[in-house]
Amino acid sequence: MSKTIERRKARTSSDTTKPASIVMNDQPLPTDDWIMRTSGLKKSYYKSKLEVPVLRDVTVEIPRGKFTAIVGQSGSGKSTLLHTLGTLDAPDAGEIHYNENRIDNIAAGRREQLRNRDFGMVFQFYHLLPELTTLENVLLPMMINASAWRYWRERRQRTRRAKELIELVGLSHRLKHRPSELSGGEMQRVAIARALIAEPQLLLADEPTGNLDSKTGDQIMSILRSLNEDSQLTIVMVTHDMSLAETADRTLRLVEGRIQGKPQQPARKSA
Ligand code: ADP
Ligand code: MG
Repeated sequence: MSKTIERRKARTSSDTTKPASIVMNDQPLPTDDWIMRTSGLKKSYYKSKLEVPVLRDVTVEIPRGKFTAIVGQSGSGKSTLLHTLGTLDAPDAGEIHYNENRIDNIAAGRREQLRNRDFGMVFQFYHLLPELTTLENVLLPMMINASAWRYWRERRQRTRRAKELIELVGLSHRLKHRPSELSGGEMQRVAIARALIAEPQLLLADEPTGNLDSKTGDQIMSILRSLNEDSQLTIVMVTHDMSLAETADRTLRLVEGRIQGKPQQPARKSA
């Protein structure tokens, strides 16, 4: 296991002693069991002045250190919700709290900081830069976040960390390949390593296996599961695939802009 991951594990090791009941969201629990919480989130799009409501009233809690899946039909608003949680989109109404701080109404600079340092994001279509190698794509957030001087000073340590993460996702033999020279599954593994480079507290994944065949998708799922199980990284994954969602710690269903019913308890470890 890499130092990066070990450090994160040390930081969150107390979470492993939390009672199993934190997966039930009908029991209010101390706030520090939740890494993120929303209340009454609303979001509409407008098509020729016609309102298309997507999120009507989303109240949800994301338990720290757990793997949460959000399911719903295509067009049900899963991506909109995930982007809103990740501050890529702003809600029209409602609140989002992250580690006790309200984040839906913060300034653009602070939102950017959260996305760069606290949240890792993985998308269905990878969003890698085609002209960069695997190593450069993984290092990219570090290059953007730091001043040129700081980047140069810390380049060895950062490169080492990037290589550890690339090893973690099993791509050490593809360090110098560009995205066009990689398979879909390999590109998604690069995207996961990139999402982890800043040591995020929360990984938001939007249909991370949606563009992959089922065997490759299973490999991506097993990387995500081990990040969660070995390092207690909190993961929220959006999917329309119920069989994937059932292997998460809890499954939330988005129906007509609301989270429906109680979270489902899965048969996780047997999956
Ligand atoms: P899902 O990820 O569950 O498939 P989305 O969140 O992408 O759903 O989209 C929910 C609904 O919002 C869809 O009907 C979609 O067409 C609409 N929508 C999403 N993004 C936009 C946008 N930028 N402008 C207008 N409508 C949008
Ligand atoms: Mg989507």
